[in-house]
Amino acid sequence: MVIIMNPDATAAEIKSVIEVITAAGLEAKVMEGSQQKIVGVIGDKTKVADVAIDVMPGVEKSVAISKSFKLASREFHPQNSVVDVAGIKIGDGTPVVMAGPCAVESKEQLFEAADIVKAAGAQFLRGGAYKPRTSPYSFQGLEEEGLKYLAEARERTGLRVVTEVTTVEAIESVVKYADMLQVGARNMQNFGLLKEVGKCGKPVLLKRGLAATIDEWLNAAEYIMNAGNPNVVLCERGIRTYETYTRNTLDLSAVAAVKHLSHLPIIVDPSHGTGKWRMVKPMAFAAIAAGADGLMMEVHPNPAKALSDGPQSLTPENYQEVMAGIYKLSQFMKQENITSMDI
Ligand code: PEP
Ligand code: MN
Repeated sequence: MVIIMNPDATAAEIKSVIEVITAAGLEAKVMEGSQQKIVGVIGDKTKVADVAIDVMPGVEKSVAISKSFKLASREFHPQNSVVDVAGIKIGDGTPVVMAGPCAVESKEQLFEAADIVKAAGAQFLRGGAYKPRTSPYSFQGLEEEGLKYLAEARERTGLRVVTEVTTVEAIESVVKYADMLQVGARNMQNFGLLKEVGKCGKPVLLKRGLAATIDEWLNAAEYIMNAGNPNVVLCERGIRTYETYTRNTLDLSAVAAVKHLSHLPIIVDPSHGTGKWRMVKPMAFAAIAAGADGLMMEVHPNPAKALSDGPQSLTPENYQEVMAGIYKLSQFMKQENITSMDI
């Protein structure tokens, strides 16, 4: 961090700033140019995170040089992390697919979806038992009953299960039934929840918040990691912009940005990212080409009858087509040694 002083800052004001820095156990170095005086701060700037340096007399502003997240940063861990979820490796160069309905609606619906998902080659079954719905009158999910169906579907198919946890109270049950906990977009900055999933002992899929910057998202990952859980996978799922044609604007540039800034694996959800089933295939292909470590897609045996997110859910036929394309694309990229990332 550097602290830029006002051009007319007095020696006493600079001295007070230095005292605050050194009192926190950090080193301060004063640089005096012809126009401006700057105080460089060396050491862990989180030690002065609670000090309002910017409002001290003589200070113009402070500027962060290094990132606020550490454990999630590539500087901290230069090699790509591979997250192992019950034997399935995410981030090892082979794209992983998580597919299934938006919500677990019934045992029959889930089993049918699970069979479809498995047959076309996904590794994970997704499906929400706790649904964070915009309206309190919309279907809220089957809760624990839904979790039981997910666990039964895993027995039936061998698929791993990823499902959302929306509250601290539900963590225990979700840990009992699922292989991976999903923290949804709406909870990306629910810091209490992040700290608790950080202690849960199972890998976490952290979706990007509806209006979160990449920095905020990586700081959310930092919360989970700082609580003791290094097994975090990020999921780009679109952000709010002025565009209304799509439900969200899928930010595929986030894949490249995250690969540069972080060692954590990142997957892409083109279903929530677009809100339109017709756009899922092209965005899924683009995500793989961009270097994503996998995809999350909504698939429903009968999207027209879905209790949530029908318009963005793939039919079994569409889904098979997408999967065949993803497989060919990733094979081609491997054969031709095409990697998107120059980290
Ligand atoms: C979901 O995956 O079911 C979901 C609710 O997604 P998001 O949190 O990205 O909106
Ligand atoms: Mn959904």
